[in-house]
Amino acid sequence: MEDCVFCKIKKGELPSTILYSDDDFMIIKDINPQAKIHLIAIPNEHVPYIDMMTEDGAKILGKIILKISHLQEELGLTQGYRLVINQGENAGQTVLHVHIHILGGEKLKEF
Ligand code: 5GP
Ligand code: ZN
Repeated sequence: MEDCVFCKIKKGELPSTILYSDDDFMIIKDINPQAKIHLIAIPNEHVPYIDMMTEDGAKILGKIILKISHLQEELGLTQGYRLVINQGENAGQTVLHVHIHILGGEKLKEF
């Protein structure tokens, strides 16, 4: 998608720190971190909202969650981490390309 920042990062048209990538998704550092470690896992396929995803897209989200658990050590998350998906306006979603926030590196506030 042309105007999407995550698609631009994927295509190398915008700079970012990419920590992991494979055929399905990439993990980058968030430009405006909300925790000591704040990463974003971004599926390669451009889908704006969760409710627009296919079954295959949902399977990739599951794969991402499992892969993050396997990467805990290299991402600095062995003490625990939080995964967040902002869906829509009330959640404050700003980039309309489904993604999972990964927060950790410190004790996070409970909610
Ligand atoms: P949302 O609010 O849509 O759930 O999350 C979008 C996230 O993308 C925000 O945490 C924001 O800081 C991050 N972000 C927006 N633009 C860029 C960018 O150009 N590079 C990187 N690395 N992160 C970005
Ligand atoms: Zn996109």
